Amino acid sequence: EAWWPDDDEQDRPLPSTVKVRVPAKINLHLGVGPLRRDGFHELRTVYHAISLHDEVTARRGDTLTLTMEGEGAGSLALDDSNLIIRAAHALAEFAKVNAHARLHLRKQIPLAGGLAGGSADAAATLVACDALWGTGVPRDELARLAASLGSDVPFLIHGGTALGTGRGEAVSPVLARAHTWHWVLGLAEGGLSTPDVYRELDRLRLAGEAPEPLGDTDDLMAALRQRDPAVLAAALGNDLQAAAISLRPALGEVLRAGTEVGALTGLVSGSGPTCVFLASSADHAGEVAAGLEKAGVCRAVRVAQGPVIGARAI
Ligand code: ATP
Repeated sequence: EAWWPDDDEQDRPLPSTVKVRVPAKINLHLGVGPLRRDGFHELRTVYHAISLHDEVTARRGDTLTLTMEGEGAGSLALDDSNLIIRAAHALAEFAKVNAHARLHLRKQIPLAGGLAGGSADAAATLVACDALWGTGVPRDELARLAASLGSDVPFLIHGGTALGTGRGEAVSPVLARAHTWHWVLGLAEGGLSTPDVYRELDRLRLAGEAPEPLGDTDDLMAALRQRDPAVLAAALGNDLQAAAISLRPALGEVLRAGTEVGALTGLVSGSGPTCVFLASSADHAGEVAAGLEKAGVCRAVRVAQGPVIGARAI
């Protein structure tokens, strides 16, 4: 009897369209350590993927093109500076194929919002083009390519809840029993530049005006295992928050407004200016969102759940 190697993969025709959905991230803990010689800060962070998604669709094409709709349409450059184009080129170069695709972005993650939208799009593009081109890049190689595009990109391929170290690119999943957390996001008018926020933190620290840096992640990890929102609320923390508020004092009012309408706690997401609030249930999140909208301190309000999976074809 003839035995054939498993050549299903080669026989399957390449898809003509691949659609990939990718989540935004928040940081449940963002500990910023000293500035490294390469210009990055040493980080210890707990990433958490939430149900606010961008979508990248890849179709066959004779060149590489990018179009978009949604958040930031009209202001986001669609040229070689876009992380989507950079991700497609990086994969094509690695896999030695032509970077030919018609890419389309449906964006819900606000620009420069501290939710890693650009990194999410890069992660989605790697997954989409790998499938479109049939390059079959192993996951660890994909993670390496991802890290070359940005510190948050490897996490957005994984999703879930994960510890990030180094400059954030070294991710290991946090093992916790499945539990859904409920969040409310306060979106701001205009973004904040991530490098500016890190620089402001350096300035505040040098001037002795920064709050005490966060400690380890033990309390947060314990809170995740305990699955009690009130306990998690007490364990959330972000070393960048003071710097983001220093650059954008109105964020202090947004955080206050969220707790006034009943959120368990609020914190700045990553480098901001998005603020994220913890609720105790889906219903409670709905109430907090309605209250925050009524307070009129945000451009828009969203509810989201986490953790959710990373960049996946749908
Ligand atoms: P992070 O939390 O990772 O620091 P962020 O959420 O604050 O990021 P992003 O929206 O990821 O901010 O991107 C910041 C900048 O990256 C944008 O202002 C834009 O100039 C550039 N950029 C390049 N490609 C993209 C993209 N596809 N989507 C969003 N921004 C992009």
